[in-house]
Amino acid sequence: MTEPVLRLVGVTQQYGVGETAVSALAGVDLDVVRGELVAVMGASGSGKSTLLSIAGGLQQPTTGEVIVEGTYLSTASQRELAQLRRRSLGFVFQDFNLIPTLTAMENVTLPLELDGFRARVARRAGKDALAAVGLDDKLDAYPDDLSGGQQQRVAIARAVVGGRRLILADEPTGALDSVTGEAVMKMLRTRVDAGAAGILVTHEPRHAAWADRIVFLRDGRVVDESRRASADSLLSDAR
Ligand code: ADP
Ligand code: MG
Repeated sequence: MTEPVLRLVGVTQQYGVGETAVSALAGVDLDVVRGELVAVMGASGSGKSTLLSIAGGLQQPTTGEVIVEGTYLSTASQRELAQLRRRSLGFVFQDFNLIPTLTAMENVTLPLELDGFRARVARRAGKDALAAVGLDDKLDAYPDDLSGGQQQRVAIARAVVGGRRLILADEPTGALDSVTGEAVMKMLRTRVDAGAAGILVTHEPRHAAWADRIVFLRDGRVVDESRRASADSLLSDAR
């Protein structure tokens, strides 16, 4: 069996201490393999964003282990972690996190340039990624000149550029109209089909339907899991 791109083993996350402590994740095990897109659903506060942030090494879990492409994040050096984030991980945050002083193109190619790609090669990859989200006419626009939906698409292009192998997307379709939302899902699906692994946090059943598997979180625990075949019935139960 091939090694999962991402493994979470017994992951817990506690915020705060004592009376006010919050148990955001209460023991989560999750494997995601190449070519697999996993949707994570659950009420607000159920731990979805915490799970993504831990999976991407942006925060250390209170207990448990995170393994990305065989690298144990708990023992990786700062340098290894930084390299992993630049090279292997693509993040799409709820609030886009674009750099306001950089153009759309520069936002997308920044991780590649940091990683030592030649400017010309980075530009070509950036152009392809932006074209794939329908923004080939906005390469030189700054985030402030773009609509929320367009900014979201730049963030998606940045997450997939350069063949990232683990894509973590936190409600990437939140600010988008339904047509653009579908286009974004298609792009994510295409990237995963080409060999990446992906986790998508979403509230939208019709976007979760693009996933191979849906994981339901409640109070920091996985309470239900469904393969695509049974996902539809689970979703209609939830309605
Ligand atoms: P979701 O993305 O599903 O809405 P989160 O992962 O953001 O859930 O939050 C899970 C729980 O952890 C919530 O109760 C939230 O209030 C709490 N939480 C999240 N981040 C922090 C933080 N930095 N400090 C304290 N509590 C937090
Ligand atoms: Mg969230």
